[in-house]
Amino acid sequence: MRTIRQDMIDILARGEYTARDLSQMLRLREKDVYDHLVHISRSLSSRKLKLTVVPARCLHCSYVFESRNRFTKPGRCPRCRGEHIEDPRYRVE
Ligand SMILES: [Zn+2]
Repeated sequence: MRTIRQDMIDILARGEYTARDLSQMLRLREKDVYDHLVHISRSLSSRKLKLTVVPARCLHCSYVFESRNRFTKPGRCPRCRGEHIEDPRYRVE
């Protein structure tokens, strides 16, 4: 039986997508996408795959949110206080 998480894994194995992309492709709320991503990242290790997060980046000063562990997007840049943040993207490899 196919599940939303399996569909999500298949999509992310083909390319990089933001939570918003995934919410539109799978017709989920963005909040639910993040919940699924957390579960996917835990379950993939047993399949020798991993969920890679391309970190969020400030579009104003290019600050990269490297150390960020959470999946959700940050609200504000700690360096320039800018609020134009490029969404983190996800892929499975
Ligand atoms: Zn910035």
